[in-house]
Parts: sequence; structure tokens; C-alpha cells
Amino acid sequence: MIRKIKGTMDILPEQTPLFRYVEGIMREEAERYGFGEIRTPMFENTELFVRGVGDTTDVVQKEMYTFVDREEDRSISLRPEGTAPVVRAIIENGRCSDPMPMKLYYIISCFRHEKPQAGRSREFFQFGTEMFGTESPTADATVIALAHAVLTRLGLKNITLHINSIGCKECRPAYREALVSHFAAEQERLCPTCRDRLGRNPLRLLDCKNPDCHEIAVRAPRTVDHLCPSCEEKFAAVKASLDEMGIPYVVDPAIVRGLDYYNNTVFEFIAEGIGAQSTVCGGGRYDSLVSSLGGPALPGIGFGMGLTRVLLAMKEEGVDTVSVSKPRLYVAALGAQAQIKALGIVERLRREGTYAECDLVGRSLKAQMKYADKIGAEYTLLLGDNELQTGRAMLRCMADGTQREVELAHLTL
Ligand code: ATP
Ligand code: MG
Repeated sequence: MIRKIKGTMDILPEQTPLFRYVEGIMREEAERYGFGEIRTPMFENTELFVRGVGDTTDVVQKEMYTFVDREEDRSISLRPEGTAPVVRAIIENGRCSDPMPMKLYYIISCFRHEKPQAGRSREFFQFGTEMFGTESPTADATVIALAHAVLTRLGLKNITLHINSIGCKECRPAYREALVSHFAAEQERLCPTCRDRLGRNPLRLLDCKNPDCHEIAVRAPRTVDHLCPSCEEKFAAVKASLDEMGIPYVVDPAIVRGLDYYNNTVFEFIAEGIGAQSTVCGGGRYDSLVSSLGGPALPGIGFGMGLTRVLLAMKEEGVDTVSVSKPRLYVAALGAQAQIKALGIVERLRREGTYAECDLVGRSLKAQMKYADKIGAEYTLLLGDNELQTGRAMLRCMADGTQREVELAHLTL
């Protein structure tokens, strides 16, 4: 037997209604906030992610599914995230001079070669949004509000919004220096990856999962204590905007985000009850990404929300019940002729938009009734020789057992 690839999942018909329900709310909310859907390819030139995500990130260094294209002999990668492809697409399609802000969303699968565990898989699903063309703190707050709206509408209550500012090009150098000297003082205790990153991208060290690195990281200087006046002011405006919208948050200096391109606002929505992988949504501002991928100086802000983690949180809070749709009518038939007649009735009802079922396997009448009960049919109709002749049959309500006679030619529910 051939098994699925480790870290991937099959989503079976009992589970898809919940996925669709969640995705439906994501789409509805995104559209309420004026975001339009964008779809990009599932694979891209590897270079896009190396430049877009950053060559010092775990995603690029360890987690990408990269292969050589058969024909062109070039390196291709399955997308590990959604932002870089969207940025490429807007540049390539000449959309950077569209009226701003440009608001885009997507629901995609992403691929990362990580250690599979609860809330972490190798193919995972993500609801992502990007807003381009504005540096206004109200834009940051709007993007956060959209994520908040989705989680709230899903009925989630035990999720906390953590926000931070990691500053800009102006305040970064001084902070970087403080950070490097903090980590350099305990260099021997750092993991090899962090030792290597220390000179190149010290911010990365702040979210290393290695226990020793983490212990040093919690004592590290905080970005919020090193903001320039302009970043300070922007951060204050983001907080004031969230306050105005009634969106609760905590300021958390530990939030720095895993990808290289962020500046200023970064945020995560954290569900405490779902285990170690508790970040259901993470995002931030990335004002230099578009230009670093060859586009104009176009600021951006966005987030990625992991569907599996949202579902884990929903399960934890007991709000993950979505009913599988049940047929309104099951037509039971006795005999080959009745079976065909039943098919005709069911087809007419389906054309009217009613979910109806009939026997397709030639079961006995008793087995058909048992099956109708099992699939939760609201009504059953029994067709035999007699019913075929008179054109009338008994419609039975499964909940209370009441029956009424109906005319087969004019049956509606
Ligand atoms: P984490 O450190 O929690 O894995 P990240 O910083 O790597 O997060 P992002 O690249 O920001 O994650 O992705 C956005 C969201 O996508 C995450 O907050 C999470 O909900 C989800 N996500 C990321 N990686 C995975 C994965 N391997 N499996 C399932 N969901 C994931
Ligand atoms: Mg990760």
C-alpha cells in the first residue's frame, strides 16, 4: 500500500464542511473589508523566496521543497508562504500604479519541510491578506481588525492579540548593535545556526526555538526601547486605532516574526489552549519587500492565518460543530421499475434545489429504510407497484413518524 507523504493530510467528507465553513467566513470578512482574491502559482523560481523571504530564515535555509525543473534546468520551489508570490504578481502584472491601497487575500496551501506535530504539517493551509500602498497606522490596524473579525466570527474567545514594533531602517542599526553585543557575550551557548546568523541577522536569534538561545533571547534588549521618534509615534497610532475599534491587545516585545522582511508593526494572535504551536495568525509590515523584489517603493502589510491551527482552537473551545448536510427526502423503492421512478422524482427535486436521495445499490426495502435513517433523511417516500399505478404515495416524516399522502407528479418539499 502506498501511503501519503508524512506531514500531509486527507480531508474527508465529514471534515470538509468545517473547512468550507471556516473558509467561507474568511472570504466573507475579507470582502467586507474590501480585499479581492488573488491566486498565484503553487511553485515559483526559488530565487523569489530566497530574496523575498530572506536567505537567513529557517524557511529558506531548511524548509523549502526545492527541485530542478526537467526542461529548463532551473531551481523551482513549492511556495512556503504567500506574500512573496503576491508581490511578484503585482509587479509582473503592472499593478503597482493602481489606485492605493490595494487589498488582496488568498486561501492557499503552503509547503515547508518541518517536523510534523500538532499544528505543524508539511502541507498546510493559510488564509493570507496583503495591503499595499499605505504606511498609515490605520492600515495596520485595519489588517489586524480583519484577522480579529474572522476569529471572532468563528466564535473563538480564548485568543490574545500580541503586538510589537520592531522599528525601521533608522532605528534598526542602534538596536542591532545592542542585540549583537548581548548575544556575543554568550556566544558559546548559541546553537550553530544562531552563531552563524549573529553577524548577518541578529533579529533572527530572538525567535530561535533552541532552549539555550531562547533563554538568552528573553533577556535581550527590546525593540520597543530603541524606536526612533517616528516609529514611536506610528506604534502609538496603531494602538490608538485598535483602542478606537475596541480590539484588545497586549504589547509583547518577544514578537519579532520569523521572516526577514518585516518592519514596524508585527503581531500574532495566540491561542493558549492548543499546545506548542499556538500562533494561529502572524503578520506585520514589510515596507521594503516590493522594492527588494524589483518593484517600486510600495509599502505593505499583511498576515497569514493557519487553518489547521484555527480548527484546533475551535475544537478546544467547542465551536467546531458544523453539520454535514442531510437529505430532505429519501425515496425507497421496491422493484426495478420503482427504482427508476424514484430516480426521476429525486432528479426533479434536485433541479429545484432540494437535496434528495434514492436507492442506487438495489438494497432490500428494509435495508433502504435503515440507510435513510442512517444518512439522516428528513422525509422518506415509499414506492411500490401500487404507488406506481395510482401515482400517489405516503410521505413519512422521520422525526415524528407522521405520514401524509402526496401526488408523485407534483411532489415538492
Ligand atoms: P510558526 O513559528 O508558528 O511556525 P511562522 O512564523 O513559521 O510560524 P508564518 O510564516 O508567519 O509562520 O505563517 C503564518 C501562519 O501559518 C502561522 O501563524 C501558522 O498559523 C501557520 N503555519 C506556519 N507554518 C505552519 C506549518 N508548518 N503547519 C501548519 N501551520 C503553519
Ligand atoms: Mg515556522
